[in-house]
Amino acid sequence: MRELVKCPRCEDFCWGNCRCIGFQCAIPWQDKVSERSWQDVYAKEASDAAEKFAERTDCEGDYTIIRRGEGVIWVRDPDNKVTVFDIQAETEPTYTAIERQLPDTSTPEHT
Ligand SMILES: [Zn+2]
Repeated sequence: MRELVKCPRCEDFCWGNCRCIGFQCAIPWQDKVSERSWQDVYAKEASDAAEKFAERTDCEGDYTIIRRGEGVIWVRDPDNKVTVFDIQAETEPTYTAIERQLPDTSTPEHT
């Protein structure tokens, strides 16, 4: 029986053997990427690799992509072909309910 397992390389949940491959991603500086900037990212497609890299880089850094709402990621596939992706980022709103402490005498009345 096939099981849903978390792939140790790409960290996605997959049925059986994951078909992710190794990409390298980098954020360009003035339309260039230095050789040291490339980082390994495992994903099934180049666009997935760009999204994973953007999320990881934003979390580890100072949320540059989230704050600007966009960014550019270069993705290099195993054949050395480079694809450039425009990344769009949005933050999710979070709502928190905190119970209000009312004085005993002012219980809300239903009319
Ligand atoms: Zn995988």
